[in-house]
Amino acid sequence: MSTVTEKLEGMDVWLYHGQIYIPNTYSAGAVGSKFLIELRDRKRIVGTRCPTCNRVYVPARSICKDCYSQLDEWVEVSNKGTLLTYTVCNQQNAIQPVEAPIVYGIIQLDGADTGFVHLLGEVDPEQLKVGMRVQAVFKKEREASILDIKYFKPLV
Ligand SMILES: [Zn+2]
Repeated sequence: MSTVTEKLEGMDVWLYHGQIYIPNTYSAGAVGSKFLIELRDRKRIVGTRCPTCNRVYVPARSICKDCYSQLDEWVEVSNKGTLLTYTVCNQQNAIQPVEAPIVYGIIQLDGADTGFVHLLGEVDPEQLKVGMRVQAVFKKEREASILDIKYFKPLV
């Protein structure tokens, strides 16, 4: 028999097992908002370039993680890139944006120096290979969300 409460042995402590719903809102900030608006309005993937070390960050960020320079230069990068690594999630849960199996990848877009975490689609997980070329597939109806990119699909 399962129970939602239990008493810890030898202690005057009770545990309650359950889930609570915690709605929240996250502000993308000025830089994140511009990145998302470019996805929504122009289907462009943009990043920011460091004036000191020349690194291009995608998604865009406001401060270089290596040299702490302010990043004010916006650059458009390609919607094509190289799969750096991936994982396949076969377990469904409420926070996953799509149905399992869910394939997540880290993609280095052409023109960027960083990895971009996103979904992979139109691919058999057995066919995935590090180094494969992929391309962004945008949703038709976009809302300034990272999921305006539906997923990245393999280039054939
Ligand atoms: Zn830098």
